[in-house]
Amino acid sequence: MNIATLTIAEVQNGLRAKQFSAVELATEALRFGQAENGKTNAYLTFSDERALAAAARVDAKLAAGEPIGALGGVPVAVKDVIVTKGLRTTCGSKMLGKFLPPYDATAVERLEAAGGVILGKANCDEFAMGSSNENSAYGPVRNPVALDRVPGGSSGGSAAVVAQGTAVVSLGSDTGGSIRQPASFCGCVGVTPTYGRVSRYGLVAFASSLDHIGPFSRTVADSATVLQTIAGRDDRDATSALHAVPDYFATMGESVKGLRLGLPKEYFAGLAPETGDRIMAGVEVLKKLGCEVSEVSLPHTEYAIAAYYIICTAEVSANLSRFDGVRFGHRSAKSDTLADLYKNSRGEGFGAEVKRRIMLGTYVLSHGYYDAYYLKAQKVRNLLTQDFAKAFEQVDALITPVSPFPAFKIGEKVNDPIQMYLSDIYTITGSLAGIPCMSVPCGATAEGLPVGMQILTKHFAEDTMFRLAHQYEKAGGFTA
Ligand code: GLN
Repeated sequence: MNIATLTIAEVQNGLRAKQFSAVELATEALRFGQAENGKTNAYLTFSDERALAAAARVDAKLAAGEPIGALGGVPVAVKDVIVTKGLRTTCGSKMLGKFLPPYDATAVERLEAAGGVILGKANCDEFAMGSSNENSAYGPVRNPVALDRVPGGSSGGSAAVVAQGTAVVSLGSDTGGSIRQPASFCGCVGVTPTYGRVSRYGLVAFASSLDHIGPFSRTVADSATVLQTIAGRDDRDATSALHAVPDYFATMGESVKGLRLGLPKEYFAGLAPETGDRIMAGVEVLKKLGCEVSEVSLPHTEYAIAAYYIICTAEVSANLSRFDGVRFGHRSAKSDTLADLYKNSRGEGFGAEVKRRIMLGTYVLSHGYYDAYYLKAQKVRNLLTQDFAKAFEQVDALITPVSPFPAFKIGEKVNDPIQMYLSDIYTITGSLAGIPCMSVPCGATAEGLPVGMQILTKHFAEDTMFRLAHQYEKAGGFTA
């Protein structure tokens, strides 16, 4: 078996044909992951015991002739902002350096119930804030495609393990692009489902109205399998949707002939050719499949970044107040008074980007500024959502770039937060609207850096998104 290129179907066929057992596969995956991790720093924690126990359960089911589940025996990595019972969950922060959660996130529970084998926890930007994985308190992740470059963020580790081959699939989280952008930088598939499609129970909150859990994989089908497994109503998350989850595989093989695709003109104006040319090559593949392509407009796009960084920081300032050294998190050893305990614990536990966002968020929510900033940003969010709704009256899906540029060098943008924020322009609009979006590989630049193409559909239309992405992949679009 070549662990680095396996797909879910290959794992399951190998198990059924007795080419390897689940325990053998897990053992080899752990060995390979640990041997390779020095290159990328993509895993923060390995969970050998838990992985081998999960694999043994799969082998027992195989031996008894019972179904092994959609992810039976499949090596999985989980972003370290998603809690795992008894398994260190740091959120990439010193604040939670020793945190052992008392329960599993719903997505983790469902993964394991379907036979998934969790190898470990993937590195990420601190509390998922960032676009390069350089904000992790445990060091940056290096992009497996080019080790001097970032893997994107904040789910950089989750993308890197899939690209590097040290997991077959992984879970990430996306608030403003943190699944799609790293997927595009590392050359893999990354899916942000409709808001509410996957329970957020056990996802450590960054900006609750924007946070999503979603999969990374090397093929479209594998992301569909993971989403199928983790999606659906969960009473422990009141915002999780009641909508039934369709069988994505029932329609994935159907033709996309006649599907109407829109290219939003605001996303292509001024796009550098190294990215733009690749996206247009991807669009050509879709045209050959019989899709009808037209231009559409999302007129409020230019206000999206400003609105996002007001709304998300406001939610950060509220959500992160729980990390005070008393209820949760690092407790400073140096404090004589309660006020000092709070100040020192938070001062020592949080990194610069998290502090910047807490301060910004506290400011935009403060008396006198609430109406001017926060309320206005909410109105802009509404307008952006309406832009998408209008576009989806004309077309079935939108095609856009994921990032204005491919993976940049480690250190290149780290001291310029505004530049870093601006790089989210093509992903945060979909997040604000809560619609499903994904990144699929779309060839590479002359330097060999992967480029990702984004597919967006209307709320809960993941089936259309997967069908389009799958047909595109089959037609050779990944290397367009
Ligand atoms: N890069 C964006 C930010 O820093 C998105 C992060 C995310 O989606 N978690 O907020």
